[in-house]
Amino acid sequence: MCGELRAAHAGQRVVLLGWVNRRRDLGNLLFVDVRDRSGMTQLVLDKSDNAALHEKANHLRSEFVIAAIGAVRKRDEKTINKNIPTGEIEVTVEELKLLNESQPLPFLPTDTTLPSEEVRLKYRYIDLRRTEMQANIELRHKVALAIRQNLSNQGFFEIETPFMTRSTPEGARDYLVPSRVYPGSFYALPQSPQLFKQILMIANFDKYFQIVRCFRDEDLRADRQPEFTQIDLEMSFPQPDRVFEVVEGFLQAAFKVAGHEIKTPFTRMTYDEAIRQYGIDKPDMRLPALSNVRAAFTAEQLQTLQLGPELPVVAVRIPKVGELSRKEREDNRPLFGERTHARLVDDIKRLEKSFPDAVAKARELCGAQPDDLLVLVAGPAQQDLSGQRAEYSVYSAAGQLRVELARKYAEKHGAFSKTGNPEKDYRFLWVTDFPMFEYDDKEGRWNAAHHPFTSPHERDMEKLNSDPGAVRALAYDVVLNGTELGSGSIRIHRQDIQKKIFTALGMSEEEARLRFGFFLEALQYGTPPHGGIALGLDRIVMILAGADSLREVIPFPKTAKAVDMMVDAPTPVNEAQLRELGIAVKHSAEK
Ligand code: ASP
Repeated sequence: MCGELRAAHAGQRVVLLGWVNRRRDLGNLLFVDVRDRSGMTQLVLDKSDNAALHEKANHLRSEFVIAAIGAVRKRDEKTINKNIPTGEIEVTVEELKLLNESQPLPFLPTDTTLPSEEVRLKYRYIDLRRTEMQANIELRHKVALAIRQNLSNQGFFEIETPFMTRSTPEGARDYLVPSRVYPGSFYALPQSPQLFKQILMIANFDKYFQIVRCFRDEDLRADRQPEFTQIDLEMSFPQPDRVFEVVEGFLQAAFKVAGHEIKTPFTRMTYDEAIRQYGIDKPDMRLPALSNVRAAFTAEQLQTLQLGPELPVVAVRIPKVGELSRKEREDNRPLFGERTHARLVDDIKRLEKSFPDAVAKARELCGAQPDDLLVLVAGPAQQDLSGQRAEYSVYSAAGQLRVELARKYAEKHGAFSKTGNPEKDYRFLWVTDFPMFEYDDKEGRWNAAHHPFTSPHERDMEKLNSDPGAVRALAYDVVLNGTELGSGSIRIHRQDIQKKIFTALGMSEEEARLRFGFFLEALQYGTPPHGGIALGLDRIVMILAGADSLREVIPFPKTAKAVDMMVDAPTPVNEAQLRELGIAVKHSAEK
């Protein structure tokens, strides 16, 4: 109500319930801004009209909760406040009731300088009263609602799956819940509802979705939360195209409620193209792609430069940055890092002195403009990698440098600033045909790149044992402006193939049976082909809110150290609780 009063309401008597946002004392006149979820209205108390009421209002302080009855009137021309929606009116108070006081607060929702994030999270209920946070949470609600509505209209059922379950791997550690009834046994909180949604397909719910909490005990990064929300979906009998269409539909609806009309279908590229063009599996297409300019150099020149003649010479080009000084180039070297499989050539001027024609040709090949920052990344003449792995190493080194330079010079190139044109501001992309397996150098074995339930390309099946690195998966990611929004795949629906994949992952039959026996069994009873995807809701809302951290769009998030500052969790529990669970804690906080 407080934020909804307009000049059209002049003369109307209103009841306003809310918080004292601010009180201004002009002697005989007292102004109190009262705020509720909808916004703010100015109350006026004139001593000459009602001295007792004026006196009462004098005791109001910030964040006291009040009820006021009064009449809406237009403000004088001179006192109109164009900055707030109710700036043309005010309410002359006839009755005032103090509903609750507030202690002096650690900070005020109206403060323009924010306290530290720890303080904001400890007093989250105050932080959430701030206009920005109110808007973020409202946006989150609207986006989730639009997605639900859209998926329901597309024929999907929202179906819940358990939180207390058995561990299903998504590549992180599980959060465990001890069972009191079966001491020594544990439930796991789901890293995702993966196997349940696949089982729902076996159970003939051919279109499932859920906006669902997932739990992953991972090393935390700025953009990760131990519990986060996914838009999870699965469908029977789809080709990847069908999944793309569904996702594009609900993303369009979600962006629309946030005021952006995005165009579909999204661009598509294979993983191989993404690596060769952007050096990364989540390309940010707001900046120019990489180009292989090796053709500009002769074999002899590459030899002189000690660069691999078979490997790409990749030009990284960041517009409008201009040439860098020697000091700047040196400062940027750590962005490239120490690499054994790629070399950086960042002094193009010097290169030009030795090989003017080659550099001119390279500039031409990559379409460099005079004010572009241009660097080259190439492979070393000698190294232990070969073939595609060696090539990919060069492209990824160039791709990572491109991301770093783009971030560093964002103000100069301006490509990250919003233009108001959704086609430029939101560059969506499907990346398809990911590799099925990733080699883990540390453990010396192959892991599932997505998860072990992902279907390999049928025609790559024969390479399963001979050349696992070359097996492509029917796996896809949806990417926005260099951020992965979600991943999914067409699944394995045949038990014999599922078993083969477990074997290729080095899992013995016994281990597979122990971990996934229930699922392997379910696969035998008439499993339809199926596939799906999951997208991070928090991330989507963060992008739409223009926020720079997930914590800005999650009502009660954890810190980067996985702590809930408000309730102070995690905490030790008492001996009796532990005893009941049959748990003895060996060492507590020491790490
Ligand atoms: N369960 C997968 C994930 O959480 C998504 C999917 O394959 O549908 O990443």
